[in-house]
Amino acid sequence: MNDLARTLESIPAGDLLDRADRADEPAVRAVLAKEGRDLKDLAILLSPAADRLLEEIAAASAQLTAQRFGRTILLYAPVYLSNECVNVCTYCGFRRDIDVRRATLGLAEIEAEIRFLARQGFRHLLLVTGEHPKNVDLEYLDAAVRLARSLVPSVAIEVEPLDVGGYRRLIEAGIDGVTLYQETYDRELYARYHTHGPKKRFDWRLGAPSRAAEAGIRRVGIGALLGLADWRMETIRLAAHARWLLKQYWRTHVSISFPRIREAASHFAPPFPVSDRELARMVAALRLILPDAGLVLSTREGPGMRDGLARIGITQMSAGSRTEPGGYGRPDDAEKQFMVEDTRSPAEVAERLAALGLDPVWKDWEEALHG
Ligand code: SF4
Repeated sequence: MNDLARTLESIPAGDLLDRADRADEPAVRAVLAKEGRDLKDLAILLSPAADRLLEEIAAASAQLTAQRFGRTILLYAPVYLSNECVNVCTYCGFRRDIDVRRATLGLAEIEAEIRFLARQGFRHLLLVTGEHPKNVDLEYLDAAVRLARSLVPSVAIEVEPLDVGGYRRLIEAGIDGVTLYQETYDRELYARYHTHGPKKRFDWRLGAPSRAAEAGIRRVGIGALLGLADWRMETIRLAAHARWLLKQYWRTHVSISFPRIREAASHFAPPFPVSDRELARMVAALRLILPDAGLVLSTREGPGMRDGLARIGITQMSAGSRTEPGGYGRPDDAEKQFMVEDTRSPAEVAERLAALGLDPVWKDWEEALHG
């Protein structure tokens, strides 16, 4: 077990929540009035009393987001390079033991996908793969990243956990971000959901964002797959993970994603479903405890939910996503990872955000800021 795992396991998340469950509305308002909130405060924002004050919490979150980020929402698109995978994650449509159409894109196909997205305006792309050490190795990723960077200014990856050397190599190839969800921070549940393959290694996965930061990555994205475990426990551990990263690697920007489980070829029914209201509270509560974190929302959510969350704390959003390799050029040729709920075009999403008084951006403003 590494330092981070020990730190997370030493946090009495259950006790914090039990105590917070006795909080009343004035206690919630006291947390809202505070600056510099801690995990105890977060637990109070997740309590039943806080549920009754959701509108006030959302308003505080919106205000803090506007202060730190202005009205800007960064739009990005995922590019699925491969749906081949050696793991069995019980919830995923790409798990190795189900018979679905598989594909790994060659460079010409990757180029076609990226040119399609660039024509729609995207300048930030997230390259996504399953885990397949033979077909999707470091060399493949290196070539894909170099190609992507020749076409757009900002490229991040969501691939298997790498060692520090692997991350260094891909940073040299041109990535500026690494996204990697722990799926669940509950070690026992994690073992139940990840039955075969290298992804069974909980600690190796948990340490990956730290290794990316150590290699010098500019942005790391973390998250829990919502529906796998109690959302309140996950929220506390997710916040603790983000705070740990910010403390150890203060040069690295940390963002948090909110993937709720969607229909997939795995036909997995989430044992801990998260309601819309709970998701809204999670976004707002995390904003209030992590004022500078990027908060990221995918097209797993429907238009109404995305519009609502964009107004209370989200700072980055995907749009027009396809979740199968080659899906922009040849939709439905391979299996999707999950069904997309927001099927609006990127232009429609941008228009709607503008109508809500937000400022969707496509270009690499970070590059300008960081020089
Ligand atoms: S979640 Fe990732 S690692 Fe697990 S089966 Fe799906 S693609 Fe493979």
